[in-house]
Amino acid sequence: MFAVNFNKTAMPIFSGKAALMTFLKSIKNKNTSIGFVPTMGALHQGHLSLMQQSLNENQKTVVSIFVNPTQFNNPEDLKKYPRTLESDTKKIEALNPDIIIYAPTVEDIYEENVSSESFDFDGLENQMEGKFRPGHFDGVGTIVKRLFEIVQPNNAYFGEKDFQQLQIVKKMTQKNNLPVNIIGCPIHREENGLAMSSRNERLSPEQRSEASVIYKTLKNAELLFQNKSATEVTEWVNEVFNNHPTFELEYFQIAEEDSLLPCIEKSKDKNYRAFIAVFVNNIRLIDTISLK
Ligand code: AMP
Repeated sequence: MFAVNFNKTAMPIFSGKAALMTFLKSIKNKNTSIGFVPTMGALHQGHLSLMQQSLNENQKTVVSIFVNPTQFNNPEDLKKYPRTLESDTKKIEALNPDIIIYAPTVEDIYEENVSSESFDFDGLENQMEGKFRPGHFDGVGTIVKRLFEIVQPNNAYFGEKDFQQLQIVKKMTQKNNLPVNIIGCPIHREENGLAMSSRNERLSPEQRSEASVIYKTLKNAELLFQNKSATEVTEWVNEVFNNHPTFELEYFQIAEEDSLLPCIEKSKDKNYRAFIAVFVNNIRLIDTISLK
């Protein structure tokens, strides 16, 4: 099928890479800049803000919606990941009906071989998410590289919410000499401070409200870090979650932004960031804050 259309509008939605590539070739000339926003769907305001930035900075915007199996280390998480293509399409159309949607099947991306390439991200992959989600960043590298080959964007937009992923994508682009600018975009939060995430849909209303503890803790850690060491701040955060009845801390780490190495001793010339991963009822939430 050339394009699937749920809304009976002229909105271009592609499920196959061949048709998408032919279409992009037909609209591209040397003055057309293509912006690209890769997503796994279940779209929220955070995703839409990336799309808006792409619309502001490019003539054409492509959004991919694909729950990438190779970046999930936990099969249950993959199974339960929300898939809401029809409502996602409506949200994108309401934002701008000219956005080109690529919603491929697993076969279209991986054919018979659903596995990751192996990447060397100069050690960025060994910290935090890489430590707790083995293979995750090989999966991310694999899908982002494939999507870049298909879409061939000039600019690609990634959220700072997944700051380690943003650094890894920058590294992959640089090491493979890919002609794409990687642009980091600010975190969108719910009113209570909880970072917007597709996984928030799985929280009960009570859990969603209580999850404000994550951002509150990060804000307090930011304040504490002005006068305390990374170790002292980390101990304090551990204490907060040890005393919390429902939220279980997986990790809290203060790391240097470029290398993502843990902060052992503060240096004035370095930029630090706090990273956190928390479980509530088997739902894993992550967040981060700059400690500048
Ligand atoms: P995902 O669908 O979770 O893979 O996210 C797709 C893109 O949206 C990634 O670049 C994320 O970092 C970004 N993103 C997710 N949540 C937010 C948020 N709350 N604010 C800004 N960007 C986000």
